[in-house]
Amino acid sequence: MVRVNKYMTAAVLYGKEHLKVEEVPVPEIGSGDVLVRVKTALTCGTDVKVFRRGYHARMIVPPALFGHELAGDVVAAGTGVRNFRVGDRVVAANSAPCGVCFYCRRGAENLCEDLLFNNGAYAEYIKIPARIVERNMYPIPDHVSYQDAALIEPLACVLRGLEETGVRSGDCVAVMGLGPIGLMFVRLAKVYGARVIALGRRQTQLDRALAMGADETVISGDPDELVRNVRALTDNRGVDIAIEAVGQPETWETAVRLLRRGGVVNFFGGCPNDTQVRLDTSLLHYSELTCKASFHHTPAQIQRSLEIVSHGDIASSDFVNNVEPLSNLLEVMRHLMSHNGHMKTAIIP
Ligand SMILES: [Zn+2]
Ligand SMILES: [Zn+2]
Repeated sequence: MVRVNKYMTAAVLYGKEHLKVEEVPVPEIGSGDVLVRVKTALTCGTDVKVFRRGYHARMIVPPALFGHELAGDVVAAGTGVRNFRVGDRVVAANSAPCGVCFYCRRGAENLCEDLLFNNGAYAEYIKIPARIVERNMYPIPDHVSYQDAALIEPLACVLRGLEETGVRSGDCVAVMGLGPIGLMFVRLAKVYGARVIALGRRQTQLDRALAMGADETVISGDPDELVRNVRALTDNRGVDIAIEAVGQPETWETAVRLLRRGGVVNFFGGCPNDTQVRLDTSLLHYSELTCKASFHHTPAQIQRSLEIVSHGDIASSDFVNNVEPLSNLLEVMRHLMSHNGHMKTAIIP
């Protein structure tokens, strides 16, 4: 048993752009839960969005502990916990499915009717509830750092996004949007043996994409010009797969126009609520286009992400460009909010 204090420092989200790093009680654990001393928590575009809006209908309702990408050490385990012990280095996903509902029985656990979300990574300690301990928490291999392990949650979302397109080695993949998620798509598509065309707004983003293995880059601006430039790179056919990682209706519409006949688009970027897109029905029909959209991840995809990280195919240093103590979280969130195209920050509680 590791001695754990009664109080800890943690970030509490109170609402729109309202967050405090303060002393709160260390969470109490039940028989199936574990308490983890957080070693690294990573900022995420979703957290920035939640900070800006003050809520997320599915994931977090303030006031609440905040943050969901983490790795650390088990410091206490309930009496019913079998697979983990105090001292284990672990990475826990931010959710676990129920395992028994209509969707879970069909292997679509990401659509579970009772998906349990966990937040509270920006803290000295986090309670991992029994269901996540059982279904979606993993030991970190000795050679994998806490920071690399913490990357597996966003990577699992990206892995799902790419798998859903049926990508094969040699396919040509266009990635629109080169924030951390878009860059993860670039890197992962290269791991899958694809040819990657990266589309971004700023030269710094394109340079990062090239460093991550992108074969070609195109500066995005006018949609017609973008489509022309991508066609010029693909014998005028268009790409096999287009990934939209921006989250704007206009880019969803443009993504469809990048495809060859029989191509697949994944609308990965979530758009603002109550927005619509206009798609050319003839184009969809006569070109036999497939439109997919991916949400979240399944435990199997979390496991595969850990394998990819463990194998060294993807490293967090490509996506994390800043390390800050927990006490600076408010400044970090404000900074990330005002700088589009930001990378991730590692928060050390
Ligand atoms: Zn995330
Ligand atoms: Zn379920």
